[in-house]
Amino acid sequence: MDLIFAEATSPGRGGVSVIRLSGDNARAAAEKLTGPLTRPRYAELRDIRDDDEILDHALVLWFEEGNSFTGEEVVELHLHGAPVIVKRISRVLLEMGLRWAEAGEFTKRAFLNNRMDLAEVEGLGDLLEAETEVQRQLAARVASGELSKKTEAWRGSLIRAGALVEASVDFADEEVPEHVPLEVYEILSQLKDDLDSEINGFSATERLRKGLEVAVIGPPNAGKSSLINRIARRDIALVSDIEGTTRDIIEVRLDLYGLAVTILDTAGLRESVDEIEKMGVGLAKERAMAADLRLHLSENGDIVSDLWKNGDISVRTKSDLGGSITGDVAVSSSTGDGIDALLLRLYDKLSLMIVGARTISHERQLVALVDASACLSDIEGLPPELLAESIRAAATSLDRLLGRIGAEEYLGVIFSSFCIGK
Ligand code: GDP
Repeated sequence: MDLIFAEATSPGRGGVSVIRLSGDNARAAAEKLTGPLTRPRYAELRDIRDDDEILDHALVLWFEEGNSFTGEEVVELHLHGAPVIVKRISRVLLEMGLRWAEAGEFTKRAFLNNRMDLAEVEGLGDLLEAETEVQRQLAARVASGELSKKTEAWRGSLIRAGALVEASVDFADEEVPEHVPLEVYEILSQLKDDLDSEINGFSATERLRKGLEVAVIGPPNAGKSSLINRIARRDIALVSDIEGTTRDIIEVRLDLYGLAVTILDTAGLRESVDEIEKMGVGLAKERAMAADLRLHLSENGDIVSDLWKNGDISVRTKSDLGGSITGDVAVSSSTGDGIDALLLRLYDKLSLMIVGARTISHERQLVALVDASACLSDIEGLPPELLAESIRAAATSLDRLLGRIGAEEYLGVIFSSFCIGK
């Protein structure tokens, strides 16, 4: 593969900036700047030179082909973390004929060189995007091959069942009708159960990965923006006495005890005669209804809302002003009273929504598993040839899950979400 390079660390000043080179003769190219590199996977301290000029003094790491992240020859220059150094060295590398890597190109090469499968690539992408501990844990499991190992085990079952079916065909007496050993059905039924429980856990796992959405709704001046500000502990939403100041939905990302949660401020949700505003209100209502949960705010705790859904939480606001205790929780955004209780209650409810979470969290993975599972439906009584065909089709779907086949259509989408240098 042609020789690519990119800054592997995020641009800007820092302790170190790493430039990574990958491709044929990466070592020879780097040696023009560093002088001879002797031992692979050992850090060597070198002057980085452009002819006679010293550009930096840096640690250099070299990885052999077949034993690197991309599977190709790789060199890493661990430079001092100054953008001017990176800029100058990049210029020299470009002059030498190297090419800037595209977003995610290193990972793409790792995939194409079978260093990672597509599920691991998706896990790695999720890991880079993760904002909370729970998201990190899920992504780390997938990135380190948990889904791949599960899939290999499922594939193993299919191979075993397939071999038993083939054998029953091969040894069948011409006179005796071919029959499929009972064990085949046992293996396949167990496998289908496993696949189905992954499939059933998808929506919980996806929620976990993407984060859960909570809409804050209530009449104008109920205290929605104030509550969101209080929760976010920063001034993200507008707080004002004037009705309808916050017209569009404002989103606040929260790390709720490890869960990723997006709070939607629907302060602009009020009946209006203005046509454009009406459309905005309609959209805001749709968003609020689609959210995983709604906090219904009111000053007296009475909820009169057509947006109420089972499982929502009613919140009485401005508890510092006194009044009776109604609603599920009473809060004061002025004093902070009740905010922790509200967040705990919210956490408890949201946690219930991710109880069934398993491993798959991407639509692409779901489609492959649903296909595989469908191949194993209604197989009872199929003639051996057709059963063998179903087993092969299920295996193909699992290959698709790992990106062994049919990956091309997804590569562009997946890698474009990676940053340059990854
Ligand atoms: P929204 O229209 O629902 O977003 O309501 P706002 O958050 O803009 O609040 C409306 C008014 O109520 C503002 O004057 C806030 O200062 C006031 N307010 C909000 N929360 C509290 C609270 O907990 N205690 C008191 N005393 N006033 C509050």
